[in-house]
Amino acid sequence: MRDETKCLHAGYSPKNAEPRVMPIVQSTTYVYDSTEEVASVFDEPMKSLIYSRFANPTVMAVEDKIAALEGGVGAMCTTSGQAASLLSILNICEAGDSIISTSEIYGGTVNLFSFTLKKLGIECIFIDKNASDDELDKAFKPNTKLVFGETIANPALTVFDFERFSALAHRHGVPLIIDNTFATPILCKPFEFGADIVIHSTTKYMDGHALQVGGVIVDGGKFDWANGNFPCLTEPDESYHGVSYTKTYGNKAYITKARMQLMRDFGVYPAAHSAFLLNIGLETLAVRMKQYCQNALTVAKYFESSPYVESVSYPGLENDKYHDLAKKYLKGSSGVISLVIKGGREKAMQFMNALKLASNEVHVADIRTCVLHPASETHRQLTDEQLVACGINGGMVRFSVGLENVEDIIEDIEQAFKKIK
Ligand SMILES: *Cc1c(COP(=O)(O)O)cnc(C)c1O
Repeated sequence: MRDETKCLHAGYSPKNAEPRVMPIVQSTTYVYDSTEEVASVFDEPMKSLIYSRFANPTVMAVEDKIAALEGGVGAMCTTSGQAASLLSILNICEAGDSIISTSEIYGGTVNLFSFTLKKLGIECIFIDKNASDDELDKAFKPNTKLVFGETIANPALTVFDFERFSALAHRHGVPLIIDNTFATPILCKPFEFGADIVIHSTTKYMDGHALQVGGVIVDGGKFDWANGNFPCLTEPDESYHGVSYTKTYGNKAYITKARMQLMRDFGVYPAAHSAFLLNIGLETLAVRMKQYCQNALTVAKYFESSPYVESVSYPGLENDKYHDLAKKYLKGSSGVISLVIKGGREKAMQFMNALKLASNEVHVADIRTCVLHPASETHRQLTDEQLVACGINGGMVRFSVGLENVEDIIEDIEQAFKKIK
């Protein structure tokens, strides 16, 4: 199946006389004929359904659809993108370990990595994507467990060089974890370029309609966890009768451990109803992504030619610094544009306040056009130095182009520009 078809059909195939649409299985628990059977499922929760903190049929259908779209061996949904980032790391890191991340990532992830992981004893070393190979090699320590980056960085809109960073991570025997939220598997499939684990905030394009917050972790199934660096996956897990994930679950070791151990203990599994709504978004993901890309390219070109704009970042523009990487790795540059309004923070806010069709809201990648001011909103907790490292400037506006008629979007921008004083 190709992507458009997978969006509609992967994850659920009804048999004779079963519902056309995956039903909402609204139940916390599942009934068995005997105590012995329940006991045996406790030994191996992957064998069948036991309790909706581990798995639920409606959520599993969505997990299988997303795994199919990414080309992975398995997926696990979470209650938010943040939960997905956190668990993707805790699954292979513990106190005393370190991780390497590019500094151009989502502000919430910067907080998670810089402060909360630190409190848990995990150090994050931020690197500049443009540093030399030598400098990058020096960031690795004997306790480094992974490399983290974003396909299209939110909100800097830089494009990740998969070949370079997957080679770097693998040279040091660790996996590459990619946040593929902005690209979605429709525009980029990171596993094809050497990534090992993919995560998403499904809150964004996947849901698409601003209905609910969610996340997902997808396992590419190719990383060699038995290379000596990951005893947590090869050695017996005391909390599961001494199971060795690599021995028992083979190329699904990572995603199985995430579910059996972390989901069991942290309990951030989405409700069936949330998965049902997410699935409706996924059904149209492929067609929506094409239109977002088309609308955004038109709007980005308009910004590029506007006297009110100092600079525009959109990898789809030929003059963009990341255009070559976008051509290499992406089938489109998504609907998100970052622009810097001439005159800095104050003018940027005047422009945003004057918009009528585009709404001011803390969201991105919605079906409706929306705007956000990173320096004073999502990235508010960061220091000026951290802002610069994330590629953020006071005049920066993150403009998320929706699926309205693009001429209406541009007319709205035009009238708002005229109101800048
Ligand atoms: C929004 C976002 C997140 C966090 O996701 P939530 O669903 O809001 O928890 C992580 N990464 C990126 C790139 C995002 O845009």
